[in-house]
Amino acid sequence: MAAAFGAASAAFLPRLAHRLAVGFAEPARPGCADCARPFPEGFAGWVRAGAACSCSGGYAVPVLGGAAVATILTTTVGASPELPGYLLAAVPGLLLAMIDRRCLRLPDPLVGALAVLATVPLAILRPERIGVAVVAAVAVLTTYTILAFLGGLGLGDVKLAAVLALILGFAGWPAVVVGVLAPHLINGPIAVFLLISGRRRPIAFGPALLAGALAGLALQQP
Ligand SMILES: [Zn+2]
Repeated sequence: MAAAFGAASAAFLPRLAHRLAVGFAEPARPGCADCARPFPEGFAGWVRAGAACSCSGGYAVPVLGGAAVATILTTTVGASPELPGYLLAAVPGLLLAMIDRRCLRLPDPLVGALAVLATVPLAILRPERIGVAVVAAVAVLTTYTILAFLGGLGLGDVKLAAVLALILGFAGWPAVVVGVLAPHLINGPIAVFLLISGRRRPIAFGPALLAGALAGLALQQP
């Protein structure tokens, strides 16, 4: 059931990612970037199951990704009261990864949605863990802010990393440590490979941060 939820919700993400993957302070894309066909006005222009536009194929990756994330969360976290919040937060999480891959941006409203969907239920269910969660978030926020000033990290990465540390803090310190280290283990080899193959280019850090948080949650659970 969780896999079906993950796949079904992810099926609506390609259109959203296509419209929202724009530069800083730019308005959402009004039409298809490939065939120039305008999207419908208002709500209807945002809702489309499947590919972003009828001209583009291939939405298997987000759908399979959504199903995989939901399955990993369900099998590792188990049927706990925390699970629905994690599953809901995975939807903006997946959308953030898709947008960051396209345009190296992590829009604040989506990071905010991820934070609210995951941390509000956690704060209600586990009020005794709020202290650890806040300390973890502040520690990551401080470290990543310094890293951002040294270069190589965007402020979007800093904010997302802090939100994920807050969420992982509710699961405990081992989850935070895995969640903080895993993104570097994921992106490090990719950066080295690009460097060696002479195709040096900026790599989105958001997908690695999100995958690391998933690993932290998954490994932490019994
Ligand atoms: Zn099109």
